[in-house]
Amino acid sequence: MKNIAKKSNTMYLLNKYKLNANKRYGQNFIVDLNTIKKIVENTSIDKDTCVIEIGPGLGALSEQLGYKAGKVICYEIDERLKPVLNESLGEFDNIEVIYQDFLKVDLKKLIDTLDYDKVCVVANLPYYITSDLLESMITSNSGLSFICAMIQKEVAEKLVHKHTPLSYMIESIGSIDIKMNISRHVFMPEPHVDSSIIEIQINQPYDDKLTKILKASFTQKRKTIYNNLKGLFNEDTKNILEKENILLTLRPEQLSIDDYMKLIKYL
Ligand code: SAM
Repeated sequence: MKNIAKKSNTMYLLNKYKLNANKRYGQNFIVDLNTIKKIVENTSIDKDTCVIEIGPGLGALSEQLGYKAGKVICYEIDERLKPVLNESLGEFDNIEVIYQDFLKVDLKKLIDTLDYDKVCVVANLPYYITSDLLESMITSNSGLSFICAMIQKEVAEKLVHKHTPLSYMIESIGSIDIKMNISRHVFMPEPHVDSSIIEIQINQPYDDKLTKILKASFTQKRKTIYNNLKGLFNEDTKNILEKENILLTLRPEQLSIDDYMKLIKYL
C-alpha cells in the first residue's frame, strides 16, 4: 500500500480488520505523511543500511524506511497486526516483519547474522517501555551505529539536559541530540503529551560495570555519593573518592561521566 500514514489509509486498515489501538502496547499511530517523511529524510540511511524498526504498527514508518534503506527488519509484539501488515507492506521484498517482543531479542546475535556494515534502529517507541528499550540497546554492544527514536518530549528533554542513570549510559557510549519535536495532533489516538525525535550516536562499547556503579549511586537520589557507594568496593570508598578528586558530599547527579568511568576500575 502507498502512503500508509495518510489518515484515510489508517482508517481503512483499522476498519477492514476491525482493530482498535491497544493501549497496553502503547499504540499511537502516526497519521501524517509529512511527519513520517521528515523523520526518514533526517536520518542518514541509504541502500547500504539495514534498519531495525521496533513496533511497525500499521506499517506507516516501515513503508518510508523501505524506500530508503537496503533492508528493514520490524519487530511487532501484537500478532493481531499480522493480516494488516501483510496487506500494507506485502509488496516490499526488503521489509521483514517478525512478531516478537523486542525486549526478548538478542540484538548482538541478530546483527552478527546480517550482511550489512551499517545497522541502525529507527522507531516510534511505545511509551510504556521507552527507557527499557533504550537501555537494552545501549548496553547491547551489538554494533548498532545509531538509534533514531520518537519518545515523549519530556523524557527526551530530561535525557539531554539532566543527569539520570540512562543519560550517563548514553554519554558513556556516544552522544544524544533532539532532532525535532512532533505535535501530539499527528497521532491516532492522540496522546496527552507531545513527542521528540532523538538521535543517539554510538561511538564506543558499553562497559557493564557502569550499570553496577550507577545502580548503587542512585539507590537513594537524595543521599550523597559517599553514602550510596559505601561498602560497594573492596577498598575504602572514602579513599577512592578522595583519590579521584570526587567530593564526598556530591549528589549522584552532580558527578560527571568521567567521574563514574574512573570509579569503574575499583569494582
Ligand atoms: N510505528 C507505528 C507508527 O509510527 O505509527 C506504531 C508506533 S506505536 C507508538 C508502538 C508500536 O510498538 C505498536 O505497534 C506496538 O504494538 C508495538 N510494541 C509495543 N511493545 C512492543 C514490544 N515489546 N516489542 C515490539 N513491538 C512493541
